[in-house]
Amino acid sequence: AITTQALAASLKAQALLLQPNPRLDAAEANCKKHNIPSISVSPLQGQFLALLCRMSNAKSVLEIGTLGGYSTIWFAESVPGVKVTSIEFSAKHRDIALENTKGLENVEIRLGKAAEVMRELKAEGQVYDFVFIDANWDQQAEYFDLAVAMTRPGGSVYVDNVVRNLLDVEEEEGDRADWSLVDFVKGDGRVRATVIPTLSTHKVRVEEMVDGFLLAVVR
Ligand code: SAM
Repeated sequence: AITTQALAASLKAQALLLQPNPRLDAAEANCKKHNIPSISVSPLQGQFLALLCRMSNAKSVLEIGTLGGYSTIWFAESVPGVKVTSIEFSAKHRDIALENTKGLENVEIRLGKAAEVMRELKAEGQVYDFVFIDANWDQQAEYFDLAVAMTRPGGSVYVDNVVRNLLDVEEEEGDRADWSLVDFVKGDGRVRATVIPTLSTHKVRVEEMVDGFLLAVVR
């Protein structure tokens, strides 16, 4: 019951606080039309990510996991002058994301496996103010490790679905969730980190709504 109440309050806040955005609406509709799974961030979370970028005046954002470019649009519109690089390994998703971000000159989408592309970007000497990790969960720690190495001091790394991932692993392996991201980050002296539990307003099943992200700031 408390989840239902929290959900109702969140949806009300969403209606009150978020401005209509035709590009985001069109992107959502285009994803639906092409049967892209509805696993993008929620509107309130998109706004939160954009606010984090605005607060830190992020000029270079790296996103791992483009899908149809919904969160990419939030980043591209977050800060004047920001440049967004997004990595996606599904050509279908990349193509839809290109349609959805058409006209946004500050967006680049790189096709490939995230870890490989991140190593390429690192070799190119790219440095980021904000990294958003939102792809396959079994490589969260690997992506985090690479992301921290490519983020400037004071920049941040945001990993989505960390709580959900931990719950799923515990369900499968009991208490042996020792490869979870949080276990990895606890010994990482390069960052200060926290985990914030969340309720995703756009998920259909209540069990899927409970989640949480990890936010780390590079020292
Ligand atoms: N960030 C998107 C949003 O909020 O609109 C949602 C991303 S979706 C949760 C995850 C995406 O990561 C999918 O499009 C999937 O194809 C992609 N992906 C999964 N494994 C990947 C990998 N190893 N390398 C690159 N992309 C991957």
